[in-house]
Amino acid sequence: LFKRPWIFIRGVPAMKFLPPEGPPEIAFAGRSNVGKSSLINGLVRQGGLARTSNTPGRTQELNYFVPDGYSGEAGDLPPMALVDMPGYGYAQAPKEQVDAWTKLVFDYLRGRVTLKRVYLLIDSRHGIKKNDEEVLTLLDKAAISYQIILTKTDKIKAAGVPRLIDETLLKIKKRAAAFPVVLATSSEKNEGMDELRAAIALVVNG
Ligand code: GDP
Repeated sequence: LFKRPWIFIRGVPAMKFLPPEGPPEIAFAGRSNVGKSSLINGLVRQGGLARTSNTPGRTQELNYFVPDGYSGEAGDLPPMALVDMPGYGYAQAPKEQVDAWTKLVFDYLRGRVTLKRVYLLIDSRHGIKKNDEEVLTLLDKAAISYQIILTKTDKIKAAGVPRLIDETLLKIKKRAAAFPVVLATSSEKNEGMDELRAAIALVVNG
């Protein structure tokens, strides 16, 4: 799955621009600056695929990535798509932008049959915040399987990582749609990527 080069196929500003439903989709969500672009680039081992350090508050789109080499015609569809969701929680974002984000994301999460899992990224230094909780509640209500990825573990003491994993698990234990394994990653140190690839392969092939 992760051997071919990956390509960006489209940015989706509203539901009507979504590609036709086809391959299983794996989406990535998280607060602005959580390390989402870096994680996606690390996952596919391709530096410039997702744009890192996006100016927060710029146009909000769902960005679609697929392995290269498929025409997209019936019978030649890629085996999966990765969907980079716009970051949330940028304090200075104007209200219209927050509203647009909310509408797009709610519509997508509730209405996309081929969405198989959402990876919710949480910065190891900050833990789960109120707006993360809101997204988790939305996912529970929409009954979309999600799994938590702790990012930037190189920024905390190594000994603190197992404890943070346990604390995070405890917080999501009672949630309906949470997959009960928390992944710890560092894009900087290229850690946790094999585990994440394996988890995604299980979702896509399972
Ligand atoms: P996004 O806004 O969620 O897409 O976040 P980015 O991937 O653009 O990363 C935001 C900032 O965090 C950038 O300055 C990255 O270099 C930094 N960053 C991302 N991942 C890591 C990581 O694993 N470790 C460290 N130390 N910094 C990271």
